[in-house]
Amino acid sequence: MQRKVVKIRIYPTVEQQHKLAQAFGCARWWWNYALNKSVETYRETGKGLGQSALNALLPALKKSEETKWLGDCYSQVLQAATLNLTTAYKNFFEGRAGFPKFKSKKGKQSVQYPQNVASLENAIKIPGGIGEIKASIHRPIDGKIKTVTLSKTPSGKYFASVLFEIEGETPKTTEGKIYGIDLGVKHFAVVSDGAKISKYDNPKHLAKHEKNLKRKQRKLYRKKDGSKTRERYRKLVAKVHERVANARQDFLHKLSYKLSSDSQAVIVENLHVKGMVQNHNLAKAISDCGWGTFVNFLAYKLERKGAKLVEIDRWFPSSKLCSNCYHQVSEMPLDVREWICPNCGTKHDRDGNAATNIREEGIRIIKADGTAASASGGEVRPKTGRKSVLRHSLVKLEAPTIPLG
Ligand SMILES: [Zn+2]
Repeated sequence: MQRKVVKIRIYPTVEQQHKLAQAFGCARWWWNYALNKSVETYRETGKGLGQSALNALLPALKKSEETKWLGDCYSQVLQAATLNLTTAYKNFFEGRAGFPKFKSKKGKQSVQYPQNVASLENAIKIPGGIGEIKASIHRPIDGKIKTVTLSKTPSGKYFASVLFEIEGETPKTTEGKIYGIDLGVKHFAVVSDGAKISKYDNPKHLAKHEKNLKRKQRKLYRKKDGSKTRERYRKLVAKVHERVANARQDFLHKLSYKLSSDSQAVIVENLHVKGMVQNHNLAKAISDCGWGTFVNFLAYKLERKGAKLVEIDRWFPSSKLCSNCYHQVSEMPLDVREWICPNCGTKHDRDGNAATNIREEGIRIIKADGTAASASGGEVRPKTGRKSVLRHSLVKLEAPTIPLG
């Protein structure tokens, strides 16, 4: 069974837009309520609330005078929000994503339908009284629809992300390169294929968009609250935001495609661990650069072709280890770009050395797992007591997606 996601533009009528606004509102309110409840409960008891504990709160809310309106909401939409919230929590605790955020009325709106959705020739059929929404479907959705996420961008466009399954075994790849990637602030990614180091920076046009965004944001903040000009600027900023996000997504898609197309495995460090060990600035950079999104893109692109993503799931001294003789230095400040190993005298480029170490550690894990037939081409150091993760599958439902496949 293979999973695919297709994102299509949809064109709801005015009446459907009203109904969607209602659905977005309900889902958003419930998400925020449930998130707040989880945080509070965690503070009090040291334990969060699971999916069924959260869903169990719904009947009482639907009866209460203040939140009676929740009863008008299509209930599967609320339960899908609960599921997504608990997944977001899990991703946070397993180091794949930041802490779940509260949803704002001004941000991107979304709502998920886990069942009873059908794709027609030029429309998709949504339950809960919404009906058929006109859609531009460029390629047939030739599988069983699992979930559909409807969203509205702050600039007012509507989209549907359709996740569906098609029959057939996922292939297994044991041919191709093994890449080790050091994700960084100076360079977005430094990649080692065992013989050669390649460095990839954020594209220049992305920085240009970002500058433009900052300028428009500054202007927005100077406008009076509630004024017409402020509203106009809010829309303008939302548009630039969208352009920045699209440019970044585009870059992340292209790079993840490039690295997945000729490889059998890609090895990265777990971002959570990486961020925690290093400093606060790095933790912020992780969320700013889109490393988490990048790793998720890599994961599903690799999975689709039967290759694997290996996450080194514990602290690993990738920067401090000499990739030639495995001597470990005690200090490696962030501003040191090049160094000479005091033991063997090899001159290292900081990031290239780290990427090489990450690659070799990944090969060691693959060999220990025993599933990669040709995990060759790298020294494997026998070390014990390391626990890392082989990530074979992950489909991020909340992620903005472009048509796959
Ligand atoms: Zn050395």
